[in-house]
Amino acid sequence: MPVSIVKTNKAADVRRAVELLGGMSRFVSSGEKVVIKPNVCCGKESSTGAVTDPEMVAEVCRMVAECGATPVVAESPIYPFKPERVFSRPGYADFTEKYGFEFIDIDNAPFREIQVPRGKAIAHSFVSTDVLQCDKFINMPVMKTHLQTVVSLGLKNMKGIVVGKQKHIVHLQGLDEGIVDLNTVVKSHLVIVDGIIGMEGTGGPTNGRAVEMDVIVAGDNVVEVDSVATRIMGGDPSEVDHIRGAERRGLGSMDGIQMLGDDLASVAASRDLPRSPKMNQFLITGISLRLWNLVRVPWAKITGGEPVRKKAAQPGELLIDHGLCDGCRLCLKACPVDALSYDDLLGCDSAECIRCFCCAEVCPQGALAKKF
Ligand code: SF4
Ligand code: SF4
Repeated sequence: MPVSIVKTNKAADVRRAVELLGGMSRFVSSGEKVVIKPNVCCGKESSTGAVTDPEMVAEVCRMVAECGATPVVAESPIYPFKPERVFSRPGYADFTEKYGFEFIDIDNAPFREIQVPRGKAIAHSFVSTDVLQCDKFINMPVMKTHLQTVVSLGLKNMKGIVVGKQKHIVHLQGLDEGIVDLNTVVKSHLVIVDGIIGMEGTGGPTNGRAVEMDVIVAGDNVVEVDSVATRIMGGDPSEVDHIRGAERRGLGSMDGIQMLGDDLASVAASRDLPRSPKMNQFLITGISLRLWNLVRVPWAKITGGEPVRKKAAQPGELLIDHGLCDGCRLCLKACPVDALSYDDLLGCDSAECIRCFCCAEVCPQGALAKKF
């Protein structure tokens, strides 16, 4: 099926994007339970480009309900953010009262351990039962950059089906392949990218710059939709490891995509993407870095070298802006390997650090970044 592109600044035009594909009844049937998964990774408003617009999600719920199916919106934010705080700011905490459709906080709802039979990075995970048991899954990411994975679109949005701290497993084993692994277990029947206000810059997915992209992209194949959305952002999907990996594993194709609606050229623009394909190729899974550290740390001791702490950050390493840091220590909880410490100033033990940048994602001050 083709991918639709609608140039617009109105959330309600999501209806047009789905109608171009043949209407919602092509994707859902009467009596089905349909889980709709927005990206509500952090407690910011949709005007920041960090989260999916709740008005657009509500319109998709209405379309699903018009087909006689039951829409349920479900999401889990970045760990260690508190879901109740995250969901209140962008308008998801009162989603049910406001729009009349159920909203599920995945971190505080039933979940199940699943095996990932085709997993390259993760062999198992802990995933929302509602997602696993639904009849159809609608994936609604926002169009934004990601300091680690270059873009955060439909494939990447799947990480939010994993419960709370269990997301660390994906980071420890290798984020790009882990994202693909999750997409081999849960299929997106429809992907709708909210690109009305997106995000650019190396601060994505939470601290980048909001940018009016004025577009909605939809389709039934997550690789195709992500490829089109990446091109709209001025990127090349073949340089995005998880999109390339998903194609390699047969989840869809980056090329030869039929497009409907507005011209790609009329909505595409050269956005500031955190491009570092060469660096990502080496990446640098938690396991490979830890194996490397088995050699590096003793070698540093023999040669008298300091295992990093006060050294200037090298490309690919964590950059700390002590001037912006207010000492909240949220990043310490986000770090899956306890590489951070706070002793007057925040410090990072780069011998332990696996370059996952979970800490940068949660820093409310934007004091942490990847050195490019
Ligand atoms: S770097 Fe950010 S998250 Fe970490 S202590 Fe400082 S302000 Fe808090
Ligand atoms: S310090 Fe930051 S980048 Fe390094 S492992 Fe911890 S969370 Fe990841």
